[in-house]
Amino acid sequence: MGRILIVEDEPAIAELITLNLRHDGHEVQVAGNSQAAQTAIDRALPDLVVLDWMLPGESGIQLAQRWRRDVRTRDLPIVMLTARSDERDVVQGLDAGADDYLAKPFSTTELLARIRSVLRRRAPQVLDAMVQVGALQLDPATMRVSAGEHAVKLGPTEFRLLRFLMNHPERVHSRAQLLDRVWGDHVFIEERTVDVHVKRLREALSEANCAGMVETVRGAGYRLARPVTTSA
Ligand code: CA
Repeated sequence: MGRILIVEDEPAIAELITLNLRHDGHEVQVAGNSQAAQTAIDRALPDLVVLDWMLPGESGIQLAQRWRRDVRTRDLPIVMLTARSDERDVVQGLDAGADDYLAKPFSTTELLARIRSVLRRRAPQVLDAMVQVGALQLDPATMRVSAGEHAVKLGPTEFRLLRFLMNHPERVHSRAQLLDRVWGDHVFIEERTVDVHVKRLREALSEANCAGMVETVRGAGYRLARPVTTSA
């Protein structure tokens, strides 16, 4: 889930974008002018900025240009918003360093799609995309897992373990790799801890008839297998 800064002086638009982004699982902060935006950026770098062109005082274009000159903000993903859709304006917006550009009035569906696409390109690690493998569906935003109509109840570690396995299906992961990627570095946990959590994960999945998807690969580790679909 990404941290997104919206720089927009029209409260109704800022509110609309905020609601939609929050619904999409993002953490949102709003700045009504360039000064407030700079203050927010100085405090903490967001994962992406939705930047309105027409702002009171310093414009979105000027702000984007300034951020592109600064080492700290040089790579900040920016989606520019504007009432202008003139081709020259689009070029100017992209020249100023925007990663993408959307003319008002825009559909929020399109804005969300553009934001996801910029994040995929520029900051893929923050994307909390819904993952599906076979019948299993995992939603990182709501932390819900389901298989068909079965809701799968998981503890936090099993959830992270399943999320990692689902993001890398069919690949074999050693216990050491799983500790590293799921439990995080700087942890000193015995490898058999992984086995304990895999066992719990299988138990939870068995209620949805998906336990067999978590395979033990002898001498190597574990793998989440895509079920073979048999069609007549
Ligand atoms: Ca504006």
